[in-house]
Amino acid sequence: MDSPAFRTPEPSITSHEAMLEFLAALVRESGRLWLGSIGRSTQGRDIPVLYLTAEGVSDSAAIRQLGRPIFWLMAQQHGNEPAGGEAMLALAAALATGELAALLGRISVVIVPRVNVDGAAADRRVLASGADANRDHLLLSQPEVRALHAAMRALPPDVVFDHHEFSVGRRWIEKFNGTQGADVMILEGTHPSIPRGLAEIAGSLYRPALEAAILEAGLSSFDYVTTNAGTADKRVSLGGTAPGIARNAFGLRGAVSYLIETRGVGIGLQNFERRVATHYLLARAVLAVTAADSVGLQDRVAAARAESAADRSDLIITHEAGERDIDLPLIDAESGAPMPTPVRLIDSRDLRPVDVRARPAGYLVLRSTADVAERLGLNEVSVREVAADGELAVEAYEVERTESRKGRNAINPDQLVRVEIRCRTIAVPAGALFVPMAQPAAGIAAAALEPDSPGSYVGVGVIPMEPDETEAPVYRVMDASGLALR
Ligand SMILES: [Zn+2]
Repeated sequence: MDSPAFRTPEPSITSHEAMLEFLAALVRESGRLWLGSIGRSTQGRDIPVLYLTAEGVSDSAAIRQLGRPIFWLMAQQHGNEPAGGEAMLALAAALATGELAALLGRISVVIVPRVNVDGAAADRRVLASGADANRDHLLLSQPEVRALHAAMRALPPDVVFDHHEFSVGRRWIEKFNGTQGADVMILEGTHPSIPRGLAEIAGSLYRPALEAAILEAGLSSFDYVTTNAGTADKRVSLGGTAPGIARNAFGLRGAVSYLIETRGVGIGLQNFERRVATHYLLARAVLAVTAADSVGLQDRVAAARAESAADRSDLIITHEAGERDIDLPLIDAESGAPMPTPVRLIDSRDLRPVDVRARPAGYLVLRSTADVAERLGLNEVSVREVAADGELAVEAYEVERTESRKGRNAINPDQLVRVEIRCRTIAVPAGALFVPMAQPAAGIAAAALEPDSPGSYVGVGVIPMEPDETEAPVYRVMDASGLALR
């Protein structure tokens, strides 16, 4: 691997400036790389994005016109997880001038090596604002996350891989007296509204490619599991199902989505080359399997999106995850000996519907319409505007607020709102927002607009309600034929 961290006698952390210098040098050496910027961080750092194509075109529309699958990779949403970001630099070099350049005849690759540039500079998990970037992909309240989604809207991904590192000791020692043993943990999107066809591609194409690469390199792996901060709760969770987690949001907006995590948080630069190589080898494997049948992938993604747009099945608004016992492959912190540890797993692949509702033709939003339209648009949701005043039969939400126990950073957030549905006829003013559900990113629309969906725009206040108000200014439209739209 050729990246800044390995050009020094001992591996080192790549500074922001060293990253930018490395990328500028790559541009000079390669005709395949367009170096852009998705925007600036809260502290004013540039957030670079790399567009790698065989032709080296420097325009999102021109890359779309090449007609190849658009494969996004991103790293370091969490600043203190450096191995993924370093691997993205090595990957960019290999695509621009090295062993992977030939793949660009079949696929176009976009890399955001360091989403949280401020956190990386401070060796901190969170953004400079204190928010967790990887809980913000539905709400889009943070400039870094908004900038990422704006770049994605200009060049919508067919596939997204999100690279992280997980905690080695800390909570695992506190709760189980062991440390994490696997080199790498992997997990596909696990929200119940992710289009089925996209989940199938994750399971049938990328999972085997990842497992083969892991086996070939002699690495150890496990499904991605995490555990919450409370030491009393000794359950572990297979990722989480919040729609605001990148892995889930990218699936909901219409891409195949995967999370890669290496064993690295809290151990400085120990085994740094092994960690970076793990990200690199897995990324290389999934790029190669995509390029091997790029047209087949495009066909499958297009079919999955069309199926999602045509879906008329009921919506799962809230769900519970099943639980089961597993052996977690921890290792003894002192001896390094294997220490398989029985734990209770909250299984994000075993989701049981709680609140289920007929799928509407769309949603009407009567308040904060410009803000809602912008946020949904960043997530590839198309919206319409009501053209003339009128009346319409709708389903209204009678809202009751509930106490939140965990808040919005939880991976399995609580409902902030409970609702009862009432049939009503309402006056609809011209200019109201209509969000149709007959589109690939319908899952984003439902997660944002059903008020009792965890993390919804009513729940978090993007669509505000007065203290004495009980009816949400959002309505379900079961038959939109009476709406004049523009
Ligand atoms: Zn992370």
